[in-house]
Amino acid sequence: MQFSEFSEICDRIESTRGRLDSIDIVSGVLKTLTDEELPVFVRFLMGRIFPDWSPEKIGIGPNLVYDAVAYVVGDSRNTVIRKINAGGDAGRAIEGLLLKKEQTSFFSETLDLLEVYNDFIYISGVGGGSSQKEKLKVLKKIFANAKPIEARYITRLILGELRIGIGEGNIRDAVAKAFDVPAAAVEHAFQASNDLGEVAVLAKSGVGDLETVRVELFRPVKMMLARQGTIAAMLEEEGVLAAEYKYDGTRFQFHKKGSECRIYSRKLEEVTKAIPDVANMLLEATTHDAILDGEVIAIDEDTGRPLPFQYVLRRFRRKHDVEGHMQKIRLVPNIFDIICIDGRTLIDEPFSERRKILTESVSKFVAPQIVSDDIGTIEAFYRSALADGHEGIMIKSRSAHYTPGVRGKEWVKIKPAVDTMDLAVIGAEWGEGKRAKHFGSFLLACRDELGELIPVSKVATGISDDMLDILYDMLKDIVISESKNTVTFEPDTVFEVGYAEIQKSPTYEAGYALRFPRFIRLRDDKSVEEIETLQSIEARFAEQTKRLQG
Ligand code: AMP
Repeated sequence: MQFSEFSEICDRIESTRGRLDSIDIVSGVLKTLTDEELPVFVRFLMGRIFPDWSPEKIGIGPNLVYDAVAYVVGDSRNTVIRKINAGGDAGRAIEGLLLKKEQTSFFSETLDLLEVYNDFIYISGVGGGSSQKEKLKVLKKIFANAKPIEARYITRLILGELRIGIGEGNIRDAVAKAFDVPAAAVEHAFQASNDLGEVAVLAKSGVGDLETVRVELFRPVKMMLARQGTIAAMLEEEGVLAAEYKYDGTRFQFHKKGSECRIYSRKLEEVTKAIPDVANMLLEATTHDAILDGEVIAIDEDTGRPLPFQYVLRRFRRKHDVEGHMQKIRLVPNIFDIICIDGRTLIDEPFSERRKILTESVSKFVAPQIVSDDIGTIEAFYRSALADGHEGIMIKSRSAHYTPGVRGKEWVKIKPAVDTMDLAVIGAEWGEGKRAKHFGSFLLACRDELGELIPVSKVATGISDDMLDILYDMLKDIVISESKNTVTFEPDTVFEVGYAEIQKSPTYEAGYALRFPRFIRLRDDKSVEEIETLQSIEARFAEQTKRLQG
């Protein structure tokens, strides 16, 4: 497949409104691809270069892209940046710049999908002192051969913002349709392998191959997620519930094979080196090869009580002086699930069975659990969780499978009522006065069903000077464009914000706005795919209206 064909397909999807039409376009194309092209095409369409479980990163920031484009079109870097700032969409701006070049250039090679992919792999592997130079060289070659429309999608792929409006679910359905296999079988294989590209190849050879997919060690699976709800409603639904403390720390997934182990964060990044103490504790807790799911919290040495989540964050983000911080901040894991044991995949077992296996095979750090059909008992457990300094409780269906990446009704979080939501940080305004060198107010977005980011609020209150420093350090390298006193970011960062009320408002594209938005914390453990959806904001708004009327 030529990269130009891929680009045209993206362009068609981008201008297609109907979900079924997009699925038709994609399923038609999937059938025509070779086994080599298929996984790459699927991942590219999802806006990914590598599978989600893979530690590989392309490692190219916007600035390197601007340098390469400036060189190819023969303009200054500032001209490129000015163009991007004027429109805000780096892909389209670079397409426009290349259109100008196309009229004057006489020779360019055609780009092949796999060739672009191989260049990306090469770039991701380049290391050492002159790596930036080498990456730039390859980027220049790619852009020199790219047609304008190809440059639009190459830019977006590299910057991790393809945003053609086709969600993961639609691509999954297109794979099912193309190869005439059940969508549920594709979904299940995707949950276990965490790579829809690879799953597409298996789907091609039939449902039998899809069913062979197993969870594998050192290939992290997405984490199962929770919803908000009430004890009463869940009890009515389930009859009997499991309840555990809700620990306010950072999620982890621990993989162990013999004496080798790795720990992954909620975003599936490997963090073993930052928390060797936790790795050792977990290694000693079981003799089995296993994948364990849990939450790490920080503990006050003197009182034994949990410390605020920010302490854990400091340890997880640490690259230097790991030893020193190990002494200062004591971490403890709490294990609440098991995904795989001695080669056996457990995601299709009911939670009650997984819990049994967990307690039989892990000797320490297993989160205490109660099982009850009595609302009074569960409420008392909730009060004891708060009294012990925890965030609340998690109530769980005992019959539920482990559903990676799914925010289902099988896990419900119960915590004191502060209305908060997780939103993506997509832009900022520079601060004023002594904060002039920092971002001051942040533009936040939710996402719609297709994954498009939709602005819904700004937040400037509740951010300490310390946190402003951290945020500036994190965000300065992912600025995509800048105009007057505002910047836009690659959407990579998630804030939890509190609010007094949701209001209907024309100010933001979402049609809603938050009243008195207040920064609660940086959700370093969450990815942009997991933020609040427009649908759930609508549901919250409806609930709020009911509450106010009632
Ligand atoms: P939230 O991040 O507010 O959506 O709440 C869900 C998160 O709570 C999970 O992703 C875990 O990181 C965390 N958590 C803490 N304790 C538990 C528990 N016992 N079971 C499941 N998740 C827990």
